[in-house]
Amino acid sequence: MSKSLPKRSEDYSLWYNELVKRAGLAENAAVRGCMVIKPYGYAIWEKMQQTLDGMFKRTGHQNAYFPLFVPKSLFEAEEKNAEGFAKECAVVTHYRLQTDPEKPGKLRVDPNARLEEELVVRPTSEAIIWSTYKNWIQSYRDLPLLINQWANVVRWEMRTRLFLRTAEFLWQEGHTAHATAEEALAETRQMLDVYAEFAEEWMALPVVKGVKSENERFAGAIETYCIEALMQDGKALQAGTSHFLGQNFAKAFDVQFQSKEGTLEHVWGTSWGVSTRLMGALVMAHSDDEGLVLPPKLAPIQVVIVPIYKTGQLDELLERIRPMQQGLLERGISVKVDDRDTERPGFKFAEWEMKGVPVRLAVGMRDLDAGTVEVARRDTKEKMNLPLADIVQSVDQLLQDIQTNIYSKALRYREQHTTRVTTYEEFKQVLDTTAGFVLAPWDGTPETEERIKEETKATIRCLALNEPDEDGVDMLTGKPSARYAYFARAY
Ligand code: AMP
Repeated sequence: MSKSLPKRSEDYSLWYNELVKRAGLAENAAVRGCMVIKPYGYAIWEKMQQTLDGMFKRTGHQNAYFPLFVPKSLFEAEEKNAEGFAKECAVVTHYRLQTDPEKPGKLRVDPNARLEEELVVRPTSEAIIWSTYKNWIQSYRDLPLLINQWANVVRWEMRTRLFLRTAEFLWQEGHTAHATAEEALAETRQMLDVYAEFAEEWMALPVVKGVKSENERFAGAIETYCIEALMQDGKALQAGTSHFLGQNFAKAFDVQFQSKEGTLEHVWGTSWGVSTRLMGALVMAHSDDEGLVLPPKLAPIQVVIVPIYKTGQLDELLERIRPMQQGLLERGISVKVDDRDTERPGFKFAEWEMKGVPVRLAVGMRDLDAGTVEVARRDTKEKMNLPLADIVQSVDQLLQDIQTNIYSKALRYREQHTTRVTTYEEFKQVLDTTAGFVLAPWDGTPETEERIKEETKATIRCLALNEPDEDGVDMLTGKPSARYAYFARAY
């Protein structure tokens, strides 16, 4: 931990990249656009997975697994979806390598091993899943079908960034089938609520729930709902999406069911996903110039105990620390005792700060004799001496306070960086000064949206669900506007 991090105020992008690496979350891989998720980063992702998985199961979903490869003919079946993803598809054309007769020691694809039909590496799994649902769904008794898959997908992204946008990423994708449009819409909205709850309660990340404009809609969906969050540089990040697919995929894959009344009908679908991008959101939303700031509910290590000792004292001190360690564990708090005798306390403090451990206890013999413990909280960097007698209770309370404080801070930031404007001049000025979300009247046309994007790099993040309809005039065209849209420069 010798070198300090670049400052957020000086180079936000460099700060982020360095932090992800130095905190041990991830690093660039030998493959372009791909990353290696390191154990500490993966531990956070696992906590996210476990929590979300529990939420999916409580709302009636089951996990299943479908193949990585999608035969091109299946992929093509839903035309809009295929067209939307075509530019980002990795495609398998051969199934064998052979030694290169002209270059000893090198391999080449075996020209005789060309696949009869190319295989698309899934960028999303609607095609393979709906082709399977055709066999699973015959009658209304088979519905609703509520499936989730944890998987990796590949989208050949040109501009990549650790966690936020990678060529291969980990995610979950829910794919559900229903008898009616109403049920499918209710499912779409329910899963959006699940995502928003997860973001706010667990990630301490306030989000705007909304619906995407046509331009930003998922290819093949009738409607795309999303949660949008604000990062500390005033840029927005799409943190999760939930799509109402109508009957598009059911028609493309001929998935019909016999209704209660005996008629044959196409089923209604949804799909929804969040990815390892959430890791990037977590880092960008809360961390500071000293390192990560993790919400306690997702921190792999919630409390670190650093023994402060003179040579020869360590074993005895560790023995005296044990009851406190045990007490915290019994309370369900994950605790690590940093008993390395190869590093000095100052080094350990900086390292755990970089890794965002919410609470640090520094414990020496003299403190224990006096019945106190030095407690430092990562979010505010405050230090205090607390009585040893009820330390477990105090730490538990402190973890809850930190979770709340991180959320409040992020919410305050968002409130301070959400500006309502009525003119294009104001709009551009806010983007270049305050940044953040700019709420502006929009005439509802893709042309206006496109022009604004070209001129300012700001896109419509969403039409917020809680924003009342409000008559106005479009700031650019002067045409009537029925809604204010959330605009922002975004990741
Ligand atoms: P989509 O299927 O496009 O609606 O995306 C589902 C989820 O994956 C959304 O939460 C996106 O923000 C996220 N996502 C999309 N592309 C990437 C990428 N290249 N890297 C990481 N996450 C992504």
